[in-house]
Amino acid sequence: MLKFLKSLINKETSDRQVYDLTEDESFQKELDISPYIKKESHDMVMKHLTRSLDINKTGNKLSVNEKKELGLNSRLSITKELIETLTAQGLAHENPKIILDAIFYNVTFKISRNKKLNSLSSVGVKEIMLLGTNDESDCEWCDSMQDQKVPITTDVNELIKINCKCKRWCRLVIQPVINF
Ligand SMILES: [Zn+2]
Repeated sequence: MLKFLKSLINKETSDRQVYDLTEDESFQKELDISPYIKKESHDMVMKHLTRSLDINKTGNKLSVNEKKELGLNSRLSITKELIETLTAQGLAHENPKIILDAIFYNVTFKISRNKKLNSLSSVGVKEIMLLGTNDESDCEWCDSMQDQKVPITTDVNELIKINCKCKRWCRLVIQPVINF
């Protein structure tokens, strides 16, 4: 009986691992759906996201006139390499420099939530709480989720994907609910 239960538990863990994407695969998935990044720039952006290149530190900054021509804020310090990766929609974004950060942090937060769910569930935690940063950058939904208890089996990342309207990226983190 114990053996059977163990195999069930292991099965659940390995299914979750199979379902989870690696960091690189997650970055690629975000790029594939981003309206802001040109398809032909995916390889270059992947290098930035995986930290083998910093697209913001190429030393090749746009001049004030070049920014004016593109309709960009003249005070924004931005490189030609970053501009070249953006679609027209990306250039029209209220802060084009946030676009790659948002992809990076969306993915890293998502992966860390999955890891936390896996590790908490493996030690028998049944309920979790979602904690935001409690500042003005959180969207209304994130605010409303503050300190809410949900079962450990909740697909937190999917819940966030459906509901969160944070402008940059969702910063909700998971804490275990420990009942003594
Ligand atoms: Zn939010």
